[in-house]
Amino acid sequence: MKIAKFGGSSLADASQIKKVCDIILADPDRRIIVVSAPGKRTKEDIKVTDLLIYAANAALKNGNCEEELAAVIERFNSICAELKVTEVLPQITDALNSAVSTDRSDENCFIDTVKAMGEDCCARLVASYLTSIGHPARYCNPKECGLFLERDLAGKARILGESYDNLESLKYSKELCIFPGFYGYGKDGRIITFSRGGSDITGSILAGAVNANVYENWTDVDNVFAVNPSLVKNPFPITEITYDEMRELAYAGFSVLHEEALYPVYVRGIPVHIRNTNNPSAKGTRIVSERTHYDSLVTGIAGEKGFLTITVTKYLMNHEVGFISSLLKILAEEGVPIEHIPSGIDSVTIIARKKYFTPDKEDIIINRFRNEARAESVKIDRDLAIVMIVGQAMEKSVGIMARAASALSAAGINLRIVNQGASEISMMFGVSEEYTDYAVRVLYKELFRY
Ligand code: ASP
Repeated sequence: MKIAKFGGSSLADASQIKKVCDIILADPDRRIIVVSAPGKRTKEDIKVTDLLIYAANAALKNGNCEEELAAVIERFNSICAELKVTEVLPQITDALNSAVSTDRSDENCFIDTVKAMGEDCCARLVASYLTSIGHPARYCNPKECGLFLERDLAGKARILGESYDNLESLKYSKELCIFPGFYGYGKDGRIITFSRGGSDITGSILAGAVNANVYENWTDVDNVFAVNPSLVKNPFPITEITYDEMRELAYAGFSVLHEEALYPVYVRGIPVHIRNTNNPSAKGTRIVSERTHYDSLVTGIAGEKGFLTITVTKYLMNHEVGFISSLLKILAEEGVPIEHIPSGIDSVTIIARKKYFTPDKEDIIINRFRNEARAESVKIDRDLAIVMIVGQAMEKSVGIMARAASALSAAGINLRIVNQGASEISMMFGVSEEYTDYAVRVLYKELFRY
């Protein structure tokens, strides 16, 4: 059994939806389908999810959102008309109207309820269309199917374990199951959405629940590239990558799937296959637990801005038991996640993301480091980018670090931090933010020139 998830660009209009249905029907193993909300038809277009967010905000601000909702209804109306499934339109308008009429006292909850309707209505539409062309399909409501979520302390949606058991029965459905992505229900019966792009997570959860053979993630590119294609012309395609390599690259801003989408398939060893709705014959990229082949020594290179360093010094630091842990405890109490901690004899550098280390936290943390941990000096540098070179095949191969470092030095890029974990699947360089893209280009040129 395959789980096939289609992204917003694959469902943006009637002709895209026809392509999606052709793909579904081309393989009898594609029994459970997850859909996003219709995305952009052109570069300037607006995604249905964004139209819904405007509508929800207008309702909260002005008390009504008729105009904004009309734009959403019009999108679905034109798709239904072209696919000749206008009979589903009343269901769609009802779902939209009842979402905007729900209780507004908890604003976030209200926004979630409205913005989930893009996926919800799209699933109704695709199910109707498949049925109308002779392939019985049903819209699966996440509440009826038992996809329950909760919010953690940081407000992030998290799946409740029982959902996996509830969703397993989908595999016995006689009809094709069309499941809306992006949202589930809290135990109080109200809708909870994942963060943006979260339909990827729904697909992965369903793949885990039915123990699928593969999770197909259909999008609009032939494959994932070894480097961001906006930085390098015709970059090297990745045909296969491990979950671990993908995680390392995602860490430095390489965005293919939603960050949280890998976990449910990773723990069960279910491969993910990224494929192109507009070119189904392309090979795509497989994300797997064990590689079957290597096309290149390095799998991918990525760079991301937005980091900072906190350098703390204390004479004889290496003799003092518990010094680093006292720093980490303070950061934990201030809600700052830590990325790396390279250390020296009398100093330690903590790397964190700027977005968590807000300027108002800076004074508090510096004072706490000085007063509670008795640090001698604390220096913050807010200009750091991380560049990662990732590749399972680098393990045990000699000389990559030397080549990377000399290419960067020949390009005049100062290496502020260098880190290679014992797993040897990645190397991390810290550079000034202004060099991020340049460093990625330089490394690509050096390491993909075989
Ligand atoms: N429609 C949602 C978004 O635009 C979720 C998704 O497409 O995955 O973020």
